[in-house]
Amino acid sequence: MAKVLFFDIETAPNLSYVWGQWQQDVIQHVTEWYIICFSYKWEDQKSTKVVSLDDFDLYKTEPENDFDVVYKLWQLLDEADIVIGHNSDAFDIKKANARFVFHNFGPPSHYQTVDTLKLARRHFKFNSNRLGHLGEHLGLGAKEVTGGFQTWEGCMKGDPKAWKLMKKYAKQDVDLLVDVYERLRPWATNHPNKNVIDGTSYACPTCGSNKLQKRGKRRTRTMVYQTLQCTRCRSYCRERLALAQDRPEVV
Ligand SMILES: [Zn+2]
Repeated sequence: MAKVLFFDIETAPNLSYVWGQWQQDVIQHVTEWYIICFSYKWEDQKSTKVVSLDDFDLYKTEPENDFDVVYKLWQLLDEADIVIGHNSDAFDIKKANARFVFHNFGPPSHYQTVDTLKLARRHFKFNSNRLGHLGEHLGLGAKEVTGGFQTWEGCMKGDPKAWKLMKKYAKQDVDLLVDVYERLRPWATNHPNKNVIDGTSYACPTCGSNKLQKRGKRRTRTMVYQTLQCTRCRSYCRERLALAQDRPEVV
């Protein structure tokens, strides 16, 4: 079965010198950003988990060393066939890769991606494509309050209350991501094909269910297709029909 991973990362800000207050160029970074935590859920598992710096012994001596968190994330991406996030193609995956190469891990094995921000932009015109807005607008739930920059600062200073809030926030982000993904999914036109990953031939290519209903035939210039709709995820797919009488010799 295709391994589908939902994830979201939270990073620490850069700590940098600037000469002034407004729209400043950075003179020098004192400490560059790192990953403070990430939340993830396997599609076939019930609970969303959070992996954070303070889960590891290293945090006591080197609170800004994200090696263990990054290694855990690397293992998950390495295991995944499909990786899903909101703005993950442009942000989370590239941020993760930046930490992988920093710690001198090789790339994780190949996976395909679904970015719910791209889905939202491609197929709809919402007032905002932010995850929190989509969640509220579609009646799926809201993001947790972050507590703003204080929460990030608190985590960097080792405040247990700030960590608690951060983890709650990170977990809710992935829970919301899963719901938004499932709502947008039947509209996706280039979703990774689970039949190809699993070596199956007659399941829904989008979600893997075998509950497909016939929805009429469709003809292209060269082929006749049976249109099918998945009763679980509501995506459409098609089956090639090799009907000689429907296939013109000259195309
Ligand atoms: Zn389906």
